[in-house]
Amino acid sequence: MQVDYVIVGAGFAGSVLAERLASGGKVVLLIDRRPHIGGNAFDHYDDAGVLVHKYGPHIFHTNSKDVFDYLSRFTEWRSYEHRVLASVDGRLVPIPINLDTVNTLYGLSLTANSLPQFFESVAVPREVMRTSEDVIISKVGKELYEKLFRGYTRKQWGLDPSELDAQVIARVPVRTNRDDRYFADVYQAMPKHGFTRMFERMLDQPNIHVLLNTDYRDVARLFPRAQLIYTGPIDEYFDYCFGKLPYRSLRFRFETLDEKQHQPVAVINYPNEHPYTRVTEFKQITGQRHPKTTLVYEYPSDEGDPYYPVPRPENAELYRRYKALADATPNVHFVGRLGTYKYYNMDQVTAQALTLYARLTAGRSNGKTLTSVPSASTLSRVAPVANREE
Ligand SMILES: Cc1cc2nc3c(=O)[nH]c(=O)nc-3n(C[C@H](O)[C@H](O)[C@H](O)COP(=O)(O)OP(=O)(O)OC[C@H]3O[C@@H](n4cnc5c(N)ncnc54)[C@H](O)[C@@H]3O)c2cc1C
Repeated sequence: MQVDYVIVGAGFAGSVLAERLASGGKVVLLIDRRPHIGGNAFDHYDDAGVLVHKYGPHIFHTNSKDVFDYLSRFTEWRSYEHRVLASVDGRLVPIPINLDTVNTLYGLSLTANSLPQFFESVAVPREVMRTSEDVIISKVGKELYEKLFRGYTRKQWGLDPSELDAQVIARVPVRTNRDDRYFADVYQAMPKHGFTRMFERMLDQPNIHVLLNTDYRDVARLFPRAQLIYTGPIDEYFDYCFGKLPYRSLRFRFETLDEKQHQPVAVINYPNEHPYTRVTEFKQITGQRHPKTTLVYEYPSDEGDPYYPVPRPENAELYRRYKALADATPNVHFVGRLGTYKYYNMDQVTAQALTLYARLTAGRSNGKTLTSVPSASTLSRVAPVANREE
């Protein structure tokens, strides 16, 4: 078989590139070592028949019309605005912090006008913003930091906010009104029939050959003339020659209950006393009607699949060494969350893949390239720190 591109990884990065390249006439071999397409966004029906996200809840949101329009070629959407509550002191309060969060936790009746003064009165000024702790307490004070951020961050990262760089949480999302939507993006919607269905439609082309349960090492050498697009971990590609890039992982515990609805909103965060960080009820996100409901509990851990690059300066430095090696490796393109060691949302990875496609085909006009592709950095970037996760 004549193959122009071998693409490693059938998640957003690999699948978008496969679709674009195949639409432009290239023959693509798309491989994944997992038994399914979709990468971390894979969803499926569990034994009870409830649509669940195997690798934790994935909510689509973006400010990019280009990304939304591109993905809309492969799915219809269901409007969905995400809402999250945090369980604190036996009460459920909105996240991100808004007027109701403060009034409930402090037993006050502040208004949108008086809330900024309240924050000023509790904030602890810091001259230098060195750590994430500095950023949070200089904005919302020690008490909200302790109740909502500190424990969550410790669980999520295995690190105290005082050990995490300030840039990790450059901005603490705080609202002075009662807006309780988790995201403020222009486009907030879920694929009407799920992510996997969307990927199936994306990859449904004669020029795309999908090979599952296959590691790239077992096939790459069979296609010496093909270009390689690699969306797996960059350090693994180079046999960890500079050492391992650290990742935080998650263990998921699914539970199906014999009731229609269990939680008041899709996600409840548990910043403090519980071993898990959050519990998600899928039906509230997918809109599925079913007499039963399935929840997932998330337990952060150092062991397991690589999910979150650990945002510390020494890790960024280690990545830079791998990146230099990657730049010096001809005919191999690194892209996606693991290929570039970045916490990127689905829309950002889509944009990154479209940008790479535009670069690969620069100078060649096939009439199918998107005219303007937003750079990943201009999109809504939310680092999964403190009490703001994805
Ligand atoms: C718990 C969690 C929740 C998230 N929630 C959200 C959310 O709500 N909204 C949002 O926008 N984003 C969310 N994200 C981010 C989202 O998952 C990513 O943006 C997106 O899935 C990244 O796509 P990708 O293609 O870069 O990587 P992946 O989806 O990780 O795909 C990479 C693929 O490469 C394969 N692979 C790796 N190495 C090899 C190899 N050697 N051989 C063969 N195959 C290989 C892997 O098996 C994998 O399938 C979340 C992430 C996590 C972990």
